[in-house]
Amino acid sequence: MSEQPAPSEAIADLAVIGAGPTGMACAIEAQRAGFTVLLIDKGCLCNSLFHYPSNMTFFTTPELLEIGDIPFPSPNQKPGRDEALEYYRKVAEHYELDVRQYETVERVTGSDGDFSIHTVDRFGRPISHRARKLVIATGYYDLPNYLNIPGEELSKVSHYYNDPHPYYGLDVVVIGGKNSAAIAALDLWRHGARVTLVHRGPELHRHVKYWILPDINNRIKNGEIAGYFSSIVIRITEDDVTLATPDGERILPNQFVFALTGYQPDFKFLEALGVRLDEANDRCPACDPDTLESNVPGIYLAGVVIAGERTNEIFIENGRFHGKQIATDLLARNISAAAFD
Ligand SMILES: Cc1cc2nc3c(=O)[nH]c(=O)nc-3n(C[C@H](O)[C@H](O)[C@H](O)COP(=O)(O)OP(=O)(O)OC[C@H]3O[C@@H](n4cnc5c(N)ncnc54)[C@H](O)[C@@H]3O)c2cc1C
Repeated sequence: MSEQPAPSEAIADLAVIGAGPTGMACAIEAQRAGFTVLLIDKGCLCNSLFHYPSNMTFFTTPELLEIGDIPFPSPNQKPGRDEALEYYRKVAEHYELDVRQYETVERVTGSDGDFSIHTVDRFGRPISHRARKLVIATGYYDLPNYLNIPGEELSKVSHYYNDPHPYYGLDVVVIGGKNSAAIAALDLWRHGARVTLVHRGPELHRHVKYWILPDINNRIKNGEIAGYFSSIVIRITEDDVTLATPDGERILPNQFVFALTGYQPDFKFLEALGVRLDEANDRCPACDPDTLESNVPGIYLAGVVIAGERTNEIFIENGRFHGKQIATDLLARNISAAAFD
């Protein structure tokens, strides 16, 4: 099958890979600056947010999640996932963003001024688009940090927590010591699961939000949630998990495991584009802090990918400003067709 762009498809000024809040902000700002923009996502609009726990609440207030100068009205001090999904969809509608959903970008060829973006749709069919410039805003939520222990591949193990209801009356282990693990443990316990939290550190991480920490610590203190600290899971089988604890090995009966040990950007994808990673600095990609252009001319980076493995540095609340930086640079350079002829 041909990988050529459809004859009718004109070359866009900019293609943004990743239609999360950051990618949307980049598309909006570039569009407002007068450029034609294509936004491509492997899933739905705001695919990562869609896969967050169904009843999650954001840590930040609505105005810090706003993009494109569109107000985010919410009756809640901290909005939930559904509200955010509604909001970002409305913003996409308002700006009439050209979003290509369910197209996974597999590789990019060409160079500054004429990139070809090769994607596949849900059925594995190849599609190509052309753009003069690229923004990579692919986030970090697609690649979990694996434990690499026996049994991790079992269907009872998940690296994503979604809903508490399937786990009523069951023994569930949650691995991790940050917000996601604490929130999942509490949610599961409140919906009738028998929960054990296992964390390799001596206590929950200092980044756990101040309103979550006393709740989880008190549940553990009261014995309502079993807590194993300075402990790791070393084996998972169909019916149990084995922990290495300071007091020796413990085998616990178990039906489900949530390994909530964080995620990482798709470094292979960045390297395949030619983006250099700084191995001595948490694999941060080479990126001009003023323009956000990477070491590859014409390829910009936006959102969490900029901070490499430090996924707790850039959030929606600060990544949403990357679009303006990139649009400013696009304006400063003449990226019209004539400039490349
Ligand atoms: C449970 C949870 C709660 C959070 N709460 C907050 C909060 O309260 N406030 C806050 O500011 N931040 C919060 N964050 C962090 C925030 O959600 C992320 O920082 C944010 O989503 C990053 O936005 P992004 O657009 O850079 O990436 P993402 O939202 O992850 O978007 C990246 C997009 O790229 C797409 N993609 C990836 N690879 C490809 C490919 N090869 N081809 C095509 N598309 C691709 C993905 O499908 C995805 O839609 C939270 C995160 C989690 C997990």
